Amino acid sequence: MRFVSTRGLREEVDFEEAVFRGLAPDGGLYIPTSTPDLSSLFQSFDDTASFTQIAAGMIAALLPELKEPEKLAARAFPFAPVISRSRSSAGVISLLELFHGPSCAFKDFGASFLATVMEQLLERRRKNVVILTATSGDTGSAVARAFFGKKGIDVVILYPSQRVSPLQEKQLTTLGGNVLALEVLGSFDDCQRMVKEAFLAPRLREKLTLSSANSINLGRLLPQSFYYVWAWSRRERSRRLYFCVPSGNFGNLTSGVLAWKWGLPVAGFIAATNRNDVVPEYLRTGLFRPRPSVATYSNAMDVGNPSNFERLQAIFEGSRDAMHSLLHEEVVSDAETADTIARVYRSNGIVLDPHTAVGYLAAERFLAGRRVQPNEEPEIVTLATAHPGKFLEIVEKATGDRPSLPEALLELQDRPKQSQLIESKIEALANLLLERFA
Ligand SMILES: *Cc1c(COP(=O)(O)O)cnc(C)c1O
Repeated sequence: MRFVSTRGLREEVDFEEAVFRGLAPDGGLYIPTSTPDLSSLFQSFDDTASFTQIAAGMIAALLPELKEPEKLAARAFPFAPVISRSRSSAGVISLLELFHGPSCAFKDFGASFLATVMEQLLERRRKNVVILTATSGDTGSAVARAFFGKKGIDVVILYPSQRVSPLQEKQLTTLGGNVLALEVLGSFDDCQRMVKEAFLAPRLREKLTLSSANSINLGRLLPQSFYYVWAWSRRERSRRLYFCVPSGNFGNLTSGVLAWKWGLPVAGFIAATNRNDVVPEYLRTGLFRPRPSVATYSNAMDVGNPSNFERLQAIFEGSRDAMHSLLHEEVVSDAETADTIARVYRSNGIVLDPHTAVGYLAAERFLAGRRVQPNEEPEIVTLATAHPGKFLEIVEKATGDRPSLPEALLELQDRPKQSQLIESKIEALANLLLERFA
């Protein structure tokens, strides 16, 4: 598979080049040049296929240049998704739990695959790289954990001061070693802008080999498609399958849309957001109006200018109608999020984190609002993107009970924070990087 920039630069690159560059030289994002038909591969997976088997099969089909796909999949994914179903008169809503990895959020899948691939490729290159990543919370912890201790790689994580949960901050700042946490005096959008500017700054490009690990990196985007296929292999055979994706930067949803393009039989996707609803607004009106993000309970989705929108537009060739025929928008407020956490906990004992709650309510609304056609009983797989224990304060307030913490998070509680404060200016970041790594 080869890749080109969304901004029209026609230079094609291979996977390795796209992974290490992160962003294309013209500032665009890489997308595949071709659309392979994987439908017969998908049909060969039944509900006994393990997640790593499906991952290995897709790696071999998409990226034949990567050696030993089975070993790669096993090393990258020592954790797996879990699916659970609940039934109502309107249909089936399943939860695809993607939080059983080391940072307890779905980003572990992409980050761990990327780190494993990069380390493998760097062995040959004998070169050091600096990974720059902006995070609104969960990216940073997944990336920090995935890259911690990897040879030939330093990781720099930018996160917005006061805008991540205390536990998220612990996850970002307590590893040390090759992981440097920068606490930015600004918003997530500032962090993201600084990273983008760093990639385009000539004085940095001269002295350092910079790479990204954000959802803009293809090495994260492609592996996220694997769990859509895995969930499909577990579907209820008589039903039409939809995915509901709580979205911020729209990387997760883009991965699902890629799987659909490669032949996965999906009836539609629900793009669920919090009040940062730039993409739902586009779907409704055709106008794309990026704006500063507002803080919400689902803070990993507080994105005012979603990077991957550019990829979605490229995939649908700029046609809003084409995009809207596959993607259905739902917007959920903080009050509705808290209410959903409380209601679902009371009625069936399931504890949702605030991000998953946005998706859950969106799925319920979608079920209630659509005209169900005969023979078209839907199953909506809602992506459960984080463990509720990561958002203790909000979840406890909504349910009245303190959610249990997974082991991986418990052990962080007593570790000291190690971070460096920095202004939200590219000059400050550039100076720091040159001092430290050049
Ligand atoms: C990052 C994140 C999201 C949003 O995913 P995108 O790929 O940015 O759309 C949703 N939920 C959680 C818990 C996240 O960490």
